[in-house]
Amino acid sequence: MPNRASLEAIFKNNRHWSQSVGAQDPDFFSRLERQQTPEYLWIGCSDSRVSANEIMGLLPGEVFVHRNVANVVTHTDFNCLSVLQYAIDILKVRHIIVTGHYGCGGVRAALENRSLGLIDNWLRHIKDIYHQFEEMFTHLGAEESVDLLCELNVREQVANVCHTTIVQDAWKRNQALTVHGLIYRLSDGILHDLDVNINAMEEVPRIYQMYNDQDLRNRLRTLRTTLKQGKSTET
Ligand SMILES: [Zn+2]
Repeated sequence: MPNRASLEAIFKNNRHWSQSVGAQDPDFFSRLERQQTPEYLWIGCSDSRVSANEIMGLLPGEVFVHRNVANVVTHTDFNCLSVLQYAIDILKVRHIIVTGHYGCGGVRAALENRSLGLIDNWLRHIKDIYHQFEEMFTHLGAEESVDLLCELNVREQVANVCHTTIVQDAWKRNQALTVHGLIYRLSDGILHDLDVNINAMEEVPRIYQMYNDQDLRNRLRTLRTTLKQGKSTET
């Protein structure tokens, strides 16, 4: 039998929380039950110190959440891809917010050479980003390097989200969807916009743009129509 005694404090806290929330706001749980139409998908770090809805001042039902170590998005992670697909195709979120945090332990570990086990393979993705932008780190101290890599990591993961067929399919059917990159510092919890807000196929580097035969036919048709319209205005 599992040792329930070790969880006793959690059950006690939970009952206390449930009662106090219900006392302050009697409709809280019935509202929560009805509400699963979030406008936002948050992709953040597993770091337990900040919860996604709290930092954005939203109710739990207002934000769909995916978390992993160092907020990484890779194209072979079916967990992350499934969350993305469900959030976009079924919940129809309008914003995907990739959020990093300065001083991230996962990013810090990626900057070091000490093996931590299996997770080394996961953090390899972040080492690749460092390697790609290595010259930017030349004159930086240790903490500044961690912070810069945290920012570069968010930008890279925003790009990775945009390179998925899931996001691109949504754009191709004109579904409103913007991918953002934010970062915060644990010392004050203030969110900073990294100013990467991508909402269209044309903003993705060409090599990553994916079209099937029907898409290509549609693009050709649009191009021909545009050319025809151009000609008729010339004459
Ligand atoms: Zn972290």
